Amino acid sequence: MNTDILVLAEHFKGEATEITFEMLGVARTLAAALHGQVAAVVIGADTARLAARLGAADTVLAVEQAPAAMMSSESTVPLLQQLLARRPARLVLVAGTNICMGIGAKLALRLQWPYVNFCKAVNATDGVLTFTSLLFGGKILADLRLPDNRGIVSLYPGSFPPDAGQSERAPTVEKIDLPVEAGRVVFKRLIEPDATDVDITKQEVLVAVGRGIESQDNLSLAEDLAAVLQGAVCASRPVIDQGWLPLTRQVGKSGMTVKPKCYLAAGLSGAPEHVEGMKNSALTIAINKDAAAPIFDVAHYGICGDLLEILPVLTEAIKARKGA
Ligand SMILES: Cc1cc2nc3c(=O)[nH]c(=O)nc-3n(C[C@H](O)[C@H](O)[C@H](O)COP(=O)(O)OP(=O)(O)OC[C@H]3O[C@@H](n4cnc5c(N)ncnc54)[C@H](O)[C@@H]3O)c2cc1C
Repeated sequence: MNTDILVLAEHFKGEATEITFEMLGVARTLAAALHGQVAAVVIGADTARLAARLGAADTVLAVEQAPAAMMSSESTVPLLQQLLARRPARLVLVAGTNICMGIGAKLALRLQWPYVNFCKAVNATDGVLTFTSLLFGGKILADLRLPDNRGIVSLYPGSFPPDAGQSERAPTVEKIDLPVEAGRVVFKRLIEPDATDVDITKQEVLVAVGRGIESQDNLSLAEDLAAVLQGAVCASRPVIDQGWLPLTRQVGKSGMTVKPKCYLAAGLSGAPEHVEGMKNSALTIAINKDAAAPIFDVAHYGICGDLLEILPVLTEAIKARKGA
């Protein structure tokens, strides 16, 4: 019975992405438990260069594609299906990222295999594989076992150490010729986010505002505080959706992941989709007028009160302390 693990390597702008190394690290753990081998599949242009980075795999299967193409579920899923017919595997790991969105689910449907989405942890004690999946935006964690250990697993990015999937070893590379189906979705061009705005992922102090800021005019209260703390203002999705701040300032599932030294969250409820992007901040301080707001569960310090009153007081107090 085949016990190999197939990893679909993700790449962007010609480089393997971090999740690829996370997947390879997990694949090594799974392969050790099942006594199988790890094969990474690279689909794209210049596969030789990409394959050279994937030494944590026993074998790299290289499928050359047109240079302008970008990974899409439409073209990748039929390729993987054909590949698995030639090179069977017990488990297929895919990235749970925007780039690889939909690949795992569609492949599972085609193969009629079980599918674990949003996999955040893997346990392989005594050869028994347990996959922990995030449900309802992280409100529920479900431990799952796959019948015969067969299935597709989509790994949640940032959940596993990428170092475990790095290796200086030169992998065995095998070129695979597979017909690439012309898809109905055509990649035309990549639109880069506005690079002139401040990079919130590089800030040591962030003042985050949520719907509780009430109006665009009130943003100046957060900007004043961020200025005295030499930080920047970021926000939850509702504030961005209003167009009060650019998308580059959004923190959370569909925004940026930040890890500042200090994250001051004002008027944010602490929805799982927001917390996902800031939970690794070294120090979190929350201001909310609702004492039961979930943000207080993740904050180290909390102030229960009206941010419109508290922010100016904080700014003045810090100014006074700095002047002293
Ligand atoms: C697929 C998906 C992706 C998503 N991605 C993201 C994402 O990337 N980032 C994100 O943030 N959200 C995201 N969301 C939305 C998320 O579910 C929440 O709706 C959102 O985070 C709530 O924003 P909020 O906390 O600002 O607003 P609310 O939940 O409305 O909370 C406002 C808070 O402000 C408090 N408040 C009100 N007035 C004051 C005041 N004067 N002083 C002090 N406190 C006050 C209230 O008590 C309340 O707790 C996503 C949702 C989905 C479904």
